[in-house]
Amino acid sequence: MKITYLGTAAAEGWPAMFCNCEYCKQAKALGGKNIRTRSQTLINDDFLIDFPADTYNHMLKTGIDLSKVKYCFVTHSHIDHFEPTDLCMRFESCYAHNMVEPVLNIYGNSAVLKRFERFVGKLGEEEQPAAVTVTEIKAYEPIKVGRYTVTPLPAFHAPKETPFVYLINDGEKTLLYLHDTGLPFDEVYDYLEKNGVHADMVSYDCTFVALPSGGRHMGLDSVPTVKERLSRIGVTDESTVHAVNHFSHNGMLLHDELCEKAGELGFITSYDGMVVEI
Ligand SMILES: [Zn+2]
Ligand SMILES: [Zn+2]
Ligand SMILES: [Zn+2]
Repeated sequence: MKITYLGTAAAEGWPAMFCNCEYCKQAKALGGKNIRTRSQTLINDDFLIDFPADTYNHMLKTGIDLSKVKYCFVTHSHIDHFEPTDLCMRFESCYAHNMVEPVLNIYGNSAVLKRFERFVGKLGEEEQPAAVTVTEIKAYEPIKVGRYTVTPLPAFHAPKETPFVYLINDGEKTLLYLHDTGLPFDEVYDYLEKNGVHADMVSYDCTFVALPSGGRHMGLDSVPTVKERLSRIGVTDESTVHAVNHFSHNGMLLHDELCEKAGELGFITSYDGMVVEI
């Protein structure tokens, strides 16, 4: 499984669009891996997680062929994870030619479906996204799409909906994708243990970075607890790759400093464009 982190910031981006804090100024000055866009990850070349407004920028920066993507699993309806406007560009014969996959199939909770329908409802007949489907999925109900088996698990995050973290198997390897969430629910650990899940990689919400974490996101002070518990119940072993991701500019550590602190705790630090092969 090839995992490409396309966007690794929290909702506001880093540097944040309207921010002049010390950490945004430093990120602008240093550039490189300190520039982080909104959350999105590509699995192999045909499976996306989330569809933020930065999707177009991700295509420009990495050169990926978005028309190859057949499946897009959305974690929740927050705008940094799902912004449907550009889906209108998926229109063979007008906005797009020679697309590899005729249809992009999007999956998400009822809030994602509602957001999509509200958006489409405002469009004229000629503007409708013509080659996109959206399907509602439910927690603990694995779905098979092509060679992938995807299990949505409930996240401790957006209280007005049922946000998901995802267990994704591509027929060979398994990724546990913990975005966005605070400390996972006990029932999620129970589900993983009872089902004998082995994760080859875990990607952890680390929004708070160096700040004391709490509530509906995690930080460097809480991810080791999750890492330890997953190991204790046998979901991970010494071969598992652990990565931190989804960082806020409020978290106070630029990329190199964050790499060092996270590395000491046994995590690799994601950056926009990072590729991990498991
Ligand atoms: Zn987010
Ligand atoms: Zn800032
Ligand atoms: Zn969120």
